[in-house]
This record gives sequence, C-alpha cells and structure tokens, in this order.
Amino acid sequence: GDVPYLTLNNGVRIPQLGFGVWQVPADEVVGPVRTALETGYRHIDTAAAYGNEEGVGQAIRESGVPREDIFVTTKLWNADHGRAADAFDASLKRLGLDYVDLYLIHWPRPDQDLYVQAYQAMEKVLAEGRAKAIGVSNFHQSHLDRLLAETDIVPAVNQIELHPGFNQDALRAYNAQHGILTEAWSPIGQGQGLLDEPQLAAIADEVGRTPAQVVLRWHIQLGNIVFPKSVTPSRIRENFEIFDFELNDDQVAAISTLPGGRIGANPDTAT
Ligand code: NAD
Repeated sequence: GDVPYLTLNNGVRIPQLGFGVWQVPADEVVGPVRTALETGYRHIDTAAAYGNEEGVGQAIRESGVPREDIFVTTKLWNADHGRAADAFDASLKRLGLDYVDLYLIHWPRPDQDLYVQAYQAMEKVLAEGRAKAIGVSNFHQSHLDRLLAETDIVPAVNQIELHPGFNQDALRAYNAQHGILTEAWSPIGQGQGLLDEPQLAAIADEVGRTPAQVVLRWHIQLGNIVFPKSVTPSRIRENFEIFDFELNDDQVAAISTLPGGRIGANPDTAT
C-alpha cells in the first residue's frame, strides 16, 4: 500500500512515514537516503546538528525524484536560537535547496530563554516561503503554552520522543487539541530493548510481520508521523512495508502497555 499523507494546520501535506538520518555520518548518508528514495520514501528528517545536510541534499538531487515530491525537514540547533535567520540560511545552503518543507526548533532549552525569539525569526522565514511550515521539537506543554501566547503561527508539528513504553498520551492529546500534529522520534526505541519484548514478538507472529513493522504500524494507527532510521537497505525496505496489514484493537492496546521509559534527554533540563 501507499504511504498516507496527513494535512498540517496550514494545509501543507506531509507523508506519515519518512526516513530519519540522526547519527548517520556525513560521508555515509548519501547511500541510505538514495536507497530510501528508491524504496519510495518521500520524507527526510535531518537537522543542522546531525552534520549531514549536505549529503541529504546531494542524495535528493542525484535521485532524480522531483524536489516538489519530497518533504524535507531540518532543525535549528540550540546554540543558534539567537541567530535563527542566519542559521536557517546556512541550513538551506548546505542542503542546496530553495526551500525546506518544515523547519523546527530542535529543543526548547528553557535555560537560554530564547525560543520565542527564535520562533519569531522562523515566522519570517515562513512568510518568505522559504519554509513551507514551521514547528517545534521536544516542547512540553509549558513551552507550547508560552509560544501560543507570544507568537502568531501555531506550530505545525511537535516532534517528541515517543514509542511503546513512552507513549506520551498527555502531550499527544495537548498537541491534537491545538491542531499540532505529533511526530514520534526514536519510533522503534532506537532498536534496543523494545524490539526484544516477548509480547511484541507474539503480536508479530500473529500478523506475520517483524517487531519493527508492528511498532511502526502502531504509530501509524495512532496518527503519529514517524521516520525510522536505518543504514541497512533490507531494513530501510522492511520499515516501509507497513501499509498492507492492520493491527486490531487488542493488539494496539497490548503494545500501548509495553514497559519502557524515556531513552533520550528530558527537554526541561537538556543542555
Ligand atoms: P529509531 O527508533 O528510528 O531506531 C533506529 C535504530 O533501530 C537503527 O539505528 C537500528 O539500530 C535499528 N533498526 C532500524 N530498523 C530496524 C529494523 N527493521 N529491525 C531492527 N532494528 C532496526 O531511532 P532514531 O534514529 O533515534 O529516531 C529516528 C529519527 O528521529 C532520527 O533519525 C531523527 O531523524 C529523529 N530524531 C529526532 C530527535 C529530536 O530531538 N528531534 C531525537 C532523536 C531522533
């Protein structure tokens, strides 16, 4: 089956499944992104901090897939909240693109107290059409409350750590209530622990799929946007084959009760 598209709060459409490139070294990123585009992925999630924007742009150009058919996200790094306009220009230049589809504040860094200022600079980038949508990542409700009170554009997405064992039900509900789509980072728990859960293996057997496919399908049925990362061609393809089966309500509920917890940093205290 085909990848579904969701519609952002400004009417822009986003493929619900994409390809993430965190921790893919700059000199190794072209191959996996090319493989992803050949497989059918049309959404790439990178960031200035990943150090691989140039290779992502190169892979897009070499792929022959029309630019307008690919949804590209990049992110503003923490050190650049006070110079967001310049940091955006630098990302665009490294990507070699005229626009990005989505530009995000990577982390709120409340200790710096600059995310409102950064977002206001991003609102200008949006008005210029150089980002088709803007949003945030790792924002808790308190950070979003402040942004909604002090800026004009409601973020299109909030990209947060979210996987079975760390379901983020309250923040997902808050996002939805404000017309903000939830993007789930580390959707398969970085491939560790979660994928070895016996209960997950049992469900995978029931539906004749792999644990990774079952977890990604759980996200899709909850309405999350996901972009699993892999540099292994067979896994890049495996993670794409999730639109020709369904989990039933009992299976979704069982996956929602798997044990786990936060893997990454806490946005309130991350530095
Ligand atoms: P992930 O949950 O996508 O897991 C990736 C790892 O799982 C791979 O390195 C590999 O070891 C393993 N894996 C991949 N496919 C598999 C398969 N089919 N079977 C078994 N193992 C498999 O973790 P992630 O890379 O942390 O998250 C995905 C993307 O989310 C990132 O690449 C990045 O784009 C984004 N992200 C954003 C933030 C943020 O702060 N905004 C933080 C982390 C990640």
